[in-house]
Amino acid sequence: MEFEISDRMKTVLKMIDDFMIKEIVPLEPEFLNREFKEMLPVLEEKRNMVKQMELWAPNHPKEYGGMGLGLMEHALVSEALGYSPLGHYIFGCQAPDAGNVELLYHYGTEDQKAQYLAPLVEGKIRSCFAMTEPEVAGSNPIMLQATAEKDGDDYVINGHKWFASSAEGAAFAIAMLVTDTGPNANPYLKASMIIVPTDTPGFNLVRNIPVMGHRGSDYASHGEILFQNCRVPRTNLLGPEGHGFIMAQERLGPGRIHHCMRWLGVCRRSMELMINFALERVIAPGNKTLSTRQIIQLWAAECEADVLAARLMTLHAAWKAEKLGQKEARYDISFLKFFVANVMQKVVDRAMQVHGGIGVSDYSILSFFYRQERAARVYDGTDEIHKFAASRRVFEKYKGRKTLW
Ligand SMILES: Cc1cc2nc3c(=O)[nH]c(=O)nc-3n(C[C@H](O)[C@H](O)[C@H](O)COP(=O)(O)OP(=O)(O)OC[C@H]3O[C@@H](n4cnc5c(N)ncnc54)[C@H](O)[C@@H]3O)c2cc1C
Repeated sequence: MEFEISDRMKTVLKMIDDFMIKEIVPLEPEFLNREFKEMLPVLEEKRNMVKQMELWAPNHPKEYGGMGLGLMEHALVSEALGYSPLGHYIFGCQAPDAGNVELLYHYGTEDQKAQYLAPLVEGKIRSCFAMTEPEVAGSNPIMLQATAEKDGDDYVINGHKWFASSAEGAAFAIAMLVTDTGPNANPYLKASMIIVPTDTPGFNLVRNIPVMGHRGSDYASHGEILFQNCRVPRTNLLGPEGHGFIMAQERLGPGRIHHCMRWLGVCRRSMELMINFALERVIAPGNKTLSTRQIIQLWAAECEADVLAARLMTLHAAWKAEKLGQKEARYDISFLKFFVANVMQKVVDRAMQVHGGIGVSDYSILSFFYRQERAARVYDGTDEIHKFAASRRVFEKYKGRKTLW
């Protein structure tokens, strides 16, 4: 296992770090107090600066204008960008577009690539991914109900989706739909991915779901969608019919690694805030600061140990997925998905506690992280589902060799 960072990557990471501090962090007070859509002009300015620095779309293919970084390299970039909630958006590698780019790149036809992939990588349009449904458990996708039935040269789509992140303002959705509605359908091969432009009649964005006190807007929102006799040409099928779940698994692997590294960026920011506040906050006469108190010192050490472990796990999984393939890394990815999400939650919580009142106020980025990132334990596979999957590896690993106790 080799984690050496090339000189080029060191330069890239330094440039990103400088840009975050100089250009992005100063936008945060406005970001915390305004609707995302009101910030679009200033965000566009920053995006253009990133393009001029040739750091745009780090993980996306070079032939479409991205930097073409590998999984390990982009993992490091994702950590650097996670320092601010605006990082990934400004650098053009934000979820859910990042996953949709991968799907279109690997499975799209030439026409689909020209119409959807190219402008998506360029940042001219946005997209969303519509899979989860209110009526059935998202943890077990074989129960999905929304259908796409063939009618001549078209699919006619009916069904109800929600939590489609960034649906407001998206140009198209990649929707997971049941295409084999027969009674003997193989549950694992019954669903397909279909590209649905959001201006198609019958595509109804009903509302944004309020999450932790915020309804959100534009990119920063989670939409409820009602498909009512929504008709798209059969050429909008992405990949082979019936391969929706297989493709989703491929999409989610790298996505989970990117998310985990982004969360480690959140941890880094929270640790910095925690340590510096503790060093400055005088809590007793004689200039005694919070940092002189043992409980704070213990929290600092515990949190850093958790972050170091989480980082090593994530980089190891990225390395394994890149060198040996997604399949080899699937258990590692399950372990880290729940582990890193929980480490982040603990670190943000401790950092807030150290800050006292200001930490829970909406002046602090920490309270934003606390609200925003709670969902990390739910999306892209809940904690419980990943623990079940990972437990299979634990039983396989230890079973069979009985020794004396
Ligand atoms: C902020 C946010 C963004 C999201 N973005 C998207 C998106 O862009 N596109 C999209 O399609 N979806 C998205 N989702 C939806 C997300 O993927 C689902 O919420 C998730 O898959 C869980 O499905 P569910 O909500 O139906 O919960 P359920 O499946 O109903 O599960 C409820 C609870 O039961 C637990 N559970 C399930 N099975 C078991 C079991 N066997 N034993 C014990 N416990 C179990 C689960 O872990 C969970 O805690 C998003 C969700 C959030 C919160």
